Amino acid sequence: MSLEQFDKEIYDLTQKELQRQSDHLEMIASENFTLPEVMEAMGCVLTNKYAEGYPAKRYYGGCEFVDEIENLAIKRCKELFACNFANVQPNSGSQANQGVYMALLNPGDKILGMDLSHGGHLTHGAKVSSSGKIYESFFYGVELDGRINYDRVLDIAKIVRPKMIVCGASAYARVIDFAKFREIADEVGALLFADIAHIAGLVAGKEHPSPFPHAHVVSSTTHKTLRGPRGGIIMTNDEELAKKINSAIFPGIQGGPLMHVIAAKAVGFKFNLSSEWKIYANQVVKNAKKLAEVLMNRGFKLVSDGTDNHLVLMSFLDREFSGKDADLALGNAGITANKNTVPGETRSAFVTSGLRLGTPALTARGFKEKELELVGNKIADVLSDIGNTNLQARIKEELKELASKFIIYEKAIF
Ligand SMILES: *Cc1c(COP(=O)(O)O)cnc(C)c1O
Repeated sequence: MSLEQFDKEIYDLTQKELQRQSDHLEMIASENFTLPEVMEAMGCVLTNKYAEGYPAKRYYGGCEFVDEIENLAIKRCKELFACNFANVQPNSGSQANQGVYMALLNPGDKILGMDLSHGGHLTHGAKVSSSGKIYESFFYGVELDGRINYDRVLDIAKIVRPKMIVCGASAYARVIDFAKFREIADEVGALLFADIAHIAGLVAGKEHPSPFPHAHVVSSTTHKTLRGPRGGIIMTNDEELAKKINSAIFPGIQGGPLMHVIAAKAVGFKFNLSSEWKIYANQVVKNAKKLAEVLMNRGFKLVSDGTDNHLVLMSFLDREFSGKDADLALGNAGITANKNTVPGETRSAFVTSGLRLGTPALTARGFKEKELELVGNKIADVLSDIGNTNLQARIKEELKELASKFIIYEKAIF
């Protein structure tokens, strides 16, 4: 029986979601479109298998083939990031980070991460996250120019004396200087943990410097710029750390690994290792730079006045309207993005004065600079006349027409 016959409700909603993904322009910087082949691997019999433990060290029989699959995923991951050890079992980026902390810290230890409101992630010590409840967290941020000031980070690190410094961000448009972070970590005797969840695809495509050999440990998601299945990974060059990380993921925080997702991660890494990948990663950055240029030419202020990577962060501190208003208006015009706090924020975290826009998903659809120039101008049109709902409706139709020329999936279920 097909899913359509067995469960019409879920089937129909899946079709609606395909339609939504096709008609709208996806500009949430953390989202992307994975390969149909990756989805095929995720929808297979591997979901049936219990494989607690690691290849050749399982707690269940019948693991000979899943062992080969996990070993392939590990091998490709190590090759991709040029490192010696990889754990491909984390179910998400957050669980990868939880595993890193559990492996290398004791409850109550001090961590120094990037402030959530300055572009950091919840798992970098925010009080609502286990990272901020189990560990004593301190923060560095960006300056008013939107950039990390490494001298300032050092000053804070000298006062805090953290056991671990966390670098990496969710809303930072500039290159992260891992070598500088390592100098700071060495100066205060801290471990350096680089979370490259957002930029991993650019690192893989050599569009952003690698965290290796600077970071002691590196985590990432596999579904953002990497375009793989939803999941996490942890990497290191240090064998002792690798052993601790493995024990922290299983049995520390997870049970049976999602073998279908691990297979899909391996398929994703194969794509990341292909010559095609470099072209994609390069185009993501070119598209973001084009978008930044258009928005600035149209008089909008960007945090850090531009971008080095896959995202731009617009600032509305100088405008009457908020990030929330912009998010809603663009949503009406068929563009999906997200409101975001900006340095020097004057509005609440729910309202905000910023908007984060990313190019990974549009680039996966085949958009190039020409299309980003058009999209950037449509965004500027909407925001320059933010109360004009007729204009929003008209642009929505125009963008739907544009999107229909860049079909990404023929079907919703693989
Ligand atoms: C997205 C993100 C994560 C968490 O990933 P999930 O898979 O959503 O748990 C962790 N760190 C950073 C920097 C991120 O951007």
